[in-house]
Formats: sequence, structure tokens, C-alpha cells
Amino acid sequence: MAKLNPNYRKLSAGYLFPEIARRVREYSAQHPDQAIYRLGIGNTTEPLTPTILQGLHGRVTALGNRDTYSGYGDEQGELELREALVAYYAQRGVTLDPSEIFVSDGAKADAANIQNLFAQDSVIAIQNPAYPVYVDSNVVAGRTGEYDAAAGAYAGLRLLEGNPENGWFAAPPTSDGQGGPLDVVYLCSPNNPTGAVATREQLQAWVDYARRHGAVIIFDAAYAEFIADPELPRSIYEIEGASECAIELTSFSKFSGFTGVRLGWAVVPHALRTEDSEPGELNRMWNRRQSTFFNGASNIAQSGGVAALSEAGQRESRALVAYYMENARIIRAALRELGLEVTGGDNAPYLWVKTPSGPDGQPLGSWEFFDQLLHQAQVVVTPGAGFGSAGEGYVRFSAFGHRENIAAAVQSIREKLNLQR
Ligand code: PLP
Repeated sequence: MAKLNPNYRKLSAGYLFPEIARRVREYSAQHPDQAIYRLGIGNTTEPLTPTILQGLHGRVTALGNRDTYSGYGDEQGELELREALVAYYAQRGVTLDPSEIFVSDGAKADAANIQNLFAQDSVIAIQNPAYPVYVDSNVVAGRTGEYDAAAGAYAGLRLLEGNPENGWFAAPPTSDGQGGPLDVVYLCSPNNPTGAVATREQLQAWVDYARRHGAVIIFDAAYAEFIADPELPRSIYEIEGASECAIELTSFSKFSGFTGVRLGWAVVPHALRTEDSEPGELNRMWNRRQSTFFNGASNIAQSGGVAALSEAGQRESRALVAYYMENARIIRAALRELGLEVTGGDNAPYLWVKTPSGPDGQPLGSWEFFDQLLHQAQVVVTPGAGFGSAGEGYVRFSAFGHRENIAAAVQSIREKLNLQR
């Protein structure tokens, strides 16, 4: 008799986006004439740029020609794209070899699958709040106990608590804490949902910790191209020693508008090692994992990626990023005018907004403020609590959207949101 993987039943967090959709549906059904402004989801809205389109079209044409048709490609990704990525990293002084790069169909799958490289009893640390995939993939893999609703955490996972005092980026533990030192640490910078970006010093502290304890950092840099401040690191490999202890996951989704096209990559350096592995072994394991479970990203998407990394492609993608960042500026200005506390949105496309006080003078819960924004201003955001217990008392505004929709949402908030004073 087939038995199901019991770990799926432990998952608690799947309700976030369906629950948002349910509340919006219910509100719309009761108010069919009201326009709804969606600032909840981190989905790109602006069209692909001319250079990228040229790359995609060129490959489509090539596939229609017997002499230039290609089927399955290199398991790690086409060499032309991996070489373009090596050149892209070189722009910021990071030296990689194409064999250290694994092209994928996006960072989400890599973020979910990478835990497969590590032992079942690894001590896993995840930022709180965090992009839910890191937690859920480890839950499904059986590395946690049950979800403790009161604590807002899964037994066995170590949470790196974010808060305003540490700028939403926790430092490594100074003592080993319960359960010994951390083995695998997920860090996301620029962060989804908080928009916080780690400084060089903060990342150096984590790299030093990882090297001291033989830990591996999984660094999610999906939003790296949104960093405007030249002092802030865009890749963990800008930090000394990182190639010995860090895997980096990145994506074309947000900076080139590839959320639907699908293309990303993972960097697994040859120098990376753990206590029980030789340098190079993790790279070989990921190669084995990908060639066993994955058959490569779409060749059309890969040609789009090569185009995105060309000089013109990067210039156009930077303009796309600038467009979304202007949205972020518009949203931030309006929210601050209303007296709300806003962080993020300067080097990331997300604004992290503290809930205002309710009628009893106490700060509203994440879902309460979500409902207030929906009912009074018809604006949909994401409740911070959906990203982990530390997100309670916050909501996330996404800067992805057409400018006119952002402007209309902001106007609606200005005119209709009735905050307690
Ligand atoms: N990592 C983070 C932090 C994200 O927010 C997202 C998407 O929202 C992803 C990864 C997934 O990106 P992709 O579209 O490359 O799968």
C-alpha cells in the first residue's frame, strides 16, 4: 500500500496567498464596482526589452531551421550563457569558472532543491521573516518537527530573528545555542519581504562564522540588481572567503522581467567544502543532482539570458529596475506622509511597513491592517505574518506594477485610508 510523505501534512504556510485571494474575492463580490489595486505580489509587469526580445526571437528562428536546430543542451546550461555569467560577475571583481555555474529555470526551484545536498540531521537556520520556500522545502524533506502555532515556528528549525534594531538582518549567534552550531544558513539580500540589504560587514560576519563552524551559506541574491548603493555587496563572493562556504542562487526574473520566461542560476564554487567533503565534491554533487532530476532550462530562455547580459541588455534591464524603484519611491513618500513607518524600498523592490495603531491604541495585526487597506482604500498588500512570526505587525508593499496603477493606489490611500491619530 502506498503511503504518503507525512511531512506534507506539517506544512502550515501554504495558506498565505490563497487566503489573500479569498479575502479579495469576497470583498470584490460585495463591491463589484470597486477597482482593486494590487501591490501584494512580487510579479513583474513591464514588457521584455528590445534586446532580450531579439535574443528570444533569434533562437526561435534558429529552432525552425534544420541547420541551427538544437535539442537537449549542456546539463549545466549552455556554455555561452555560463560564460556570459562569468563576465557579468567579473564586472564586480568576482572570478568564477563556467563549471561553477548551473543554469536553472529560476531561483525558486534551486532554493527548494538545494537542501537535498545536506544530511538529514543538519541544523538549518532561516531568517525570520523569510521567503517561505526555504522553510517549506526543509519541512517536506523531513528536517523539522510539527508546526508550533503559539511559537510560530517548526520544531527543529533555528530562526534568525529580524527586527528594527538589527535592521532586519540578524548577526550570527555568538554562542552555539540549543542544538549546537548552525550547519546550513539561508540568507536573502536584498531581502524578501523586508527589503533589507546586508552590508559588507554583516556578510563578512556570516562568512567568518561559516568558515569557523564548517557551515554552508545559501545566499539568495534574486534581487541583487535592485541595489543602488555601490557600497552594498550584490554577490556574496564579493566577501573574502565566501567561495569556501557559500552557494549563491540568482535569477533573471526580477531584473530582466523573466518571471514568466523562467531562467536562473546557482553558483556552487569548487572551493566550497564541508567537514566531511573534499573541495569540489559539492559542485559535483549538484551537477549529479541536476543532471538526474532536471533536464536543463529552455534553450529559448537561455538565448534571452545571453541577450540580457549583453551591454545593451544590461542597460535596458537597469532601466526596468529604475522604473520599479521609482514606483517604490512614490509609495514610500505617500506612506511616510501619512506618518507610517517604512523601511526597505531603496535597494529592493519591497517596502516593509509597520502597522499603525488601532482604535485601542495598540498596533494592528498584519491581517487587520491588510483588511483595513483592502476595505478602505481597495489596496492589496501582503501581511508580514505570512513570512514568519517576526513579520507580525508589518505588511509588505510590492513596487512591481504599472505606474498608473501605483499612482492610483497611492491616491486611493491618501484619500481614503483613515488612520487613528
Ligand atoms: N528568491 C526570492 C527571495 C524571491 O522572492 C523569489 C520570487 O519571488 C525567488 C527566489 C524566485 O524567483 P524565480 O522566479 O527565479 O523562481
